[in-house]
Amino acid sequence: MDWLLTPGPVRLHPKALEALARPQLHHRTEPARALFLRARTLLKAAFRTEGEVLLLTGSGTLAMEALVRGLFAPGERVLVPVYGKFSERFWEIAEAAGLSVDRLDYPYGRVPRPEDVAKGGYRGLLLVHSETSTGALVDLPALAQAFKAENPEGLVGADMVTSLLVKEVALEAFGVDAAASGSQKGLMCPPGLGFVALSPRALEALRPAGYYLDLTRELRAQGEGESAWTPAINLVGAVAAVLEEVLPRLEEHLALKAWQNDLLYRVGEELGLRAVPEVRSPAVAAFYLPEGVPYGRVKEAFARRGAVIAGGQGPLKGRIFRLSLMGHYTRYEALGVAALFREALADTLPPS
Ligand SMILES: *Cc1c(COP(=O)(O)O)cnc(C)c1O
Repeated sequence: MDWLLTPGPVRLHPKALEALARPQLHHRTEPARALFLRARTLLKAAFRTEGEVLLLTGSGTLAMEALVRGLFAPGERVLVPVYGKFSERFWEIAEAAGLSVDRLDYPYGRVPRPEDVAKGGYRGLLLVHSETSTGALVDLPALAQAFKAENPEGLVGADMVTSLLVKEVALEAFGVDAAASGSQKGLMCPPGLGFVALSPRALEALRPAGYYLDLTRELRAQGEGESAWTPAINLVGAVAAVLEEVLPRLEEHLALKAWQNDLLYRVGEELGLRAVPEVRSPAVAAFYLPEGVPYGRVKEAFARRGAVIAGGQGPLKGRIFRLSLMGHYTRYEALGVAALFREALADTLPPS
């Protein structure tokens, strides 16, 4: 088995593997409805919302698009800071939905400041909590608060794809009205499910949009433990099994993820590597490539040791590499990865 050190998909949690080995359930039967409702209740606790969480069959990007189209009508003004590949995706989704979008640009690795979004006249603000492409983490509560001080009726939508179960998240307590996530990152499950969490305020604002993307239809169906269309029920089982295991010891889990990501940065710094983000997300460690070493050589050095890593995206393509222990890794496995990291990197440098 490969060591997946990519920031999604990730190494699966044993509880997910166990759940996936069970026989197929039919989704319009009582056991499936009970499982679906259990997963929704667990996800509500994970997002920390008094609202609702909807499960969609698809990836995180589907959840981002459903969020944007469910919350905002064409022509409405939204503000979108762009500081990486995924915040740029939010901007593209908002543009495609016909919103009137103001874009704020940042160099990759930097993050927006609260004063940047303290601007009136907007219906919405879209933010990526953990910008996986650069390894940066934004101060979601401070940004949401600064925005809402100028736009009391405004709605804040957040991408929590690599912060859910990796870093503390909370919808209402953060001033966030809706959030998107997926199964294949912090949840340590296979790809295939997207989640949209909606605060009570977002539920009031929810509008029908599209057909498969129509969250008002999903809300009606999912209240009964069904989804409008055939759900990826096997994955729903995996997500429920992992949340049942992790949520009761969430604090310990988040502390482990933080320690593991710090470990990667400590090793990188020992090796003389320069970190990419100004504020570090615990989901991924991003480093500039050593002078004169192409990405392919680093990737190969890890691959020879059975590990898969990620490169840069957008303007950082060919300039950085990224390692993540967001998947299921014990403390001692992470120490093994640290040793592998040292060896692999030494392998890429010319003999001196
Ligand atoms: C992985 C990821 C997504 C979703 O990507 P999909 O490939 O559609 O699952 C969205 N936002 C962030 C920050 C991500 O890391």
